[in-house]
Amino acid sequence: MKDSKYYKDKVIEEIECVKDRMIEVSKAVHSFAEIGTKEIKSSKLLADELEKNGFKVERGVAGMKTAFKAISHGNSGPTVAFLAEYDALPKLGHACGHNIIGTSAVFAGIAVSKIIKELNGNIAVIGTPDEEGAGGKIKMLQAGAFQGVDIAIMNHPLDKNCAWWPTVALCDLRIVFRGKGAHYATPHKGANALDAAIATLSTLNVMRHGFRPDVIFGYIIEEGGLLTVTVPERAKLKISVKSLDTNYLTDVVDRIKKCARGIANAIGVKVEIHQNPFFEESIPNLTLIQAVKNNFEILGIECEDPLETARHRSFYSTDFGNVSRRLPAVSFGISIGRNLTLHTPEFAKAAISDEGNHALLLATKVMAMTAIDFLTKPEMVRKAKEEFERYKSSNFTNLPLLPLY
Ligand SMILES: [Zn+2]
Ligand SMILES: [Zn+2]
Repeated sequence: MKDSKYYKDKVIEEIECVKDRMIEVSKAVHSFAEIGTKEIKSSKLLADELEKNGFKVERGVAGMKTAFKAISHGNSGPTVAFLAEYDALPKLGHACGHNIIGTSAVFAGIAVSKIIKELNGNIAVIGTPDEEGAGGKIKMLQAGAFQGVDIAIMNHPLDKNCAWWPTVALCDLRIVFRGKGAHYATPHKGANALDAAIATLSTLNVMRHGFRPDVIFGYIIEEGGLLTVTVPERAKLKISVKSLDTNYLTDVVDRIKKCARGIANAIGVKVEIHQNPFFEESIPNLTLIQAVKNNFEILGIECEDPLETARHRSFYSTDFGNVSRRLPAVSFGISIGRNLTLHTPEFAKAAISDEGNHALLLATKVMAMTAIDFLTKPEMVRKAKEEFERYKSSNFTNLPLLPLY
């Protein structure tokens, strides 16, 4: 086997050759703007591109129509997977730039597959739907779709280049209170569901003083009765709560549930609590982060120091975090413009701008080059795995770069 530089030069050349097609695919996915679980055209376009290029493609993975798993087999060795996302946001379209994530994963996969027989291992591209919704990666993890994957790599468009995108844990809750209707002149004959919802929210606002400062709440009253002249029979709350880490967020969510149940009990209404699976925080893997950083440097592109990134972390969340708590994984940030915020019309525009297309090309190269590192140096795979196992055995409490309280 030749040294990694030789193979990196080859994948860079291959990516340069297909850059027009890449931009075409990225623009097509952007124009489809399909929302989570409905990414029919987007997933088909990406999976077809892989199949045309010799990948063995399995569609409809984990019971989701728009999830796929594509693999190109090489010699014995580890399997490196690139993760693709391609869902858009309702009304805002590709305001999270997932057209870049999906396209870069597919073309990085194709570039590596051209030389996979010369390397140690296999290259996979996993199509993961519904990131903006329930989190397709969570379902895919539960269904075993990541079995056999040794290393997972993804990128996310941002307003800066960084070798690791730190994200935090998130939980969405729906709390439904069911009381008893009555004329509002005789409220004692009913049980007021809206009062229970309001009391829960005000108590939460008192309780938050007892939570760590990294706990963030968002809430709305989705349903609060129909008429002012009757006691509201039903009320519904939606609460989103975030924290730096899943362990602490689990405690916070338990206390929120206890609060809602206690208040429902006192007011005499019934309560039902529906909880989505957590989006867990992203776990840093220094072996992977360093490899990504080196590859940015090889390309002569500046990339923020991971410590600096950790210090100025945003409070975004992604289901990629769940992947990073199951196997060695890294998602790096790629700049599509300065001073941009995710989920805005400006971000959607930037995702197919010249700068966005340039970022697409860069992200694809960094992904492919990082895979080459792990497919040519078995000791790096071993190191990344050992590091991951060490964090896992501490229940992810003993991490670098992640300032836990
Ligand atoms: Zn998003
Ligand atoms: Zn996103």
